[in-house]
Amino acid sequence: MLLYTAAVPPFMKNGLVIGCERTRQVVVIDPGDEVDDLLAHIRAERLDTVAILLTHAHVDHVSGVARARRELQVPIWMHPDDRPIYAAAVDQGRLFGLDIEPLPPVDHYFAGDGMWGTVGDYDVSLRHTPGHCPGNVCFAFNRTGETPASEGLVVGDTLFAGSIGRTDLPGGDYPTLMRAITEVLFSYPDDTVVFPGHGPDTTIGRERRSNPFVLDWMRQTGAR
Ligand SMILES: [Zn+2]
Ligand SMILES: [Zn+2]
Repeated sequence: MLLYTAAVPPFMKNGLVIGCERTRQVVVIDPGDEVDDLLAHIRAERLDTVAILLTHAHVDHVSGVARARRELQVPIWMHPDDRPIYAAAVDQGRLFGLDIEPLPPVDHYFAGDGMWGTVGDYDVSLRHTPGHCPGNVCFAFNRTGETPASEGLVVGDTLFAGSIGRTDLPGGDYPTLMRAITEVLFSYPDDTVVFPGHGPDTTIGRERRSNPFVLDWMRQTGAR
């Protein structure tokens, strides 16, 4: 699988280019302030972008969407429950002192959990994982015919290496987030590589065993 990530200050949010080494087809996930870096990589490697996928609509994950859409001319996909956040993203950026280009309309909304489509020799499926915000989803990548997420799981701001997404923003909810982590993300095998919205990658097994927020939640609820 092709995988390229980039992050820049102030948010250090990971933008990703993921796709197929044989066909050169890729998707761009969460283009933000690092969008120029992602686009330069796509040009240099002569990649064929098929879609812009959003894990969620917080400003750090969408500030490069307009530029990516204009250059790549591919549809934008998002979960419908983040429509209000997407609509407010430019104003949200202003609160941080950022001048964000108005966002183009979303072209398609995810219809629900399950298969999204293929990117060359790879399947992309998604699961709704709310809690950090109403419309956060995770994307699972696997070679067609193999187990979902065998190539990795892109989780947005739900789960980080040793931490979890914040739940104090509008639409955030802590128990909902913890259920998304323990019931949805932890349904994937322990060796699944996790690509969070910020910071280094991790694995499902490592977070299941050692994430302090997860362990605390397990103790409180008796969940396993
Ligand atoms: Zn977020
Ligand atoms: Zn973020």
